[in-house]
Amino acid sequence: MVPEEVKPALENLLKVSIHDLELMATALLNGEFRQVPPEQALFIWAALSLFCAQMDSQIPGKANAEYGEHRQFCPVCGSIPVSSVVQIGINQGLRYLHCNLCETEWHVVRVKCSNCEHKKELDYWCVASEYAAG
Ligand SMILES: [Zn+2]
Repeated sequence: MVPEEVKPALENLLKVSIHDLELMATALLNGEFRQVPPEQALFIWAALSLFCAQMDSQIPGKANAEYGEHRQFCPVCGSIPVSSVVQIGINQGLRYLHCNLCETEWHVVRVKCSNCEHKKELDYWCVASEYAAG
């Protein structure tokens, strides 16, 4: 069941040509967010995310993220992380970055900046407690 507020956006999206959908998807993947109407960007990104997650599930075995350059990018699709999560359970205490596109998670040690791999002057933020990252 589609909420009434969402129906106009979906109806307008159905009228868009495949070519224009591909142009908007490409714009989103390139970070050109102003090229895509916001009410359509949400659904196009969701479709891209589902497509990438399905493609990733076809990869045999597990991907290994190598240390070094470009560690801040998803090892599967090359997109950027949307969050950093410290896991509990089997991998307790290990930090994983979560891809904003394909839902892949990859390990990056907590003592490094996930963007530049710098090890000094890091600030940790946590919703639960100001001491949780320590
Ligand atoms: Zn990814």
